[in-house]
Amino acid sequence: MKCLVCGTDHSDTRCPVCLFPVVAVPGDVSEQEVRQMLRSKIEEHRKKLLPNIKTGIVLYQYDVHADGTVTETSERVFFEGSGSSIRRQEPMWLNRKFDTVSDRDMVEAEIFAEISGYSPARSQSVRIPQIASSQEQNIGIRMDDELRFSICVRSETGTVRMSEWYPLFR
Ligand SMILES: [Zn+2]
Repeated sequence: MKCLVCGTDHSDTRCPVCLFPVVAVPGDVSEQEVRQMLRSKIEEHRKKLLPNIKTGIVLYQYDVHADGTVTETSERVFFEGSGSSIRRQEPMWLNRKFDTVSDRDMVEAEIFAEISGYSPARSQSVRIPQIASSQEQNIGIRMDDELRFSICVRSETGTVRMSEWYPLFR
């Protein structure tokens, strides 16, 4: 069953990610109705989690050496602030630029998220749009009220593209 607060799919009595309890409801009640009934509990728990949520992206760099070998290095970069400061409308941008992969419309990236004090970091692979006309791009993140996120890219001229929405935890 899907956690009503963080969206994690699980079969425990309490969500393994955010510890929100599973609520027993009759089978003919829809998720929307359950959400409505428990609105204040869900909201209260979400508000408690937000300051503890940290998200970031894993960046890969490939170096080709003189002898033809390739080494891969990866770096975890955190988005600044916590879940409390990531908005749905206005993306939170990383304070650096990234090379555009100009021959592709989408690239795969790894996003990680953790709730300090609740559960260790979890990562997942997501698809991020590219803006081919721009050599460099900014990367940002948005988050909605159901703890779903979307990764945004912004070109040098200010064009913005957004990924689809993904649950922060699965
Ligand atoms: Zn949860």
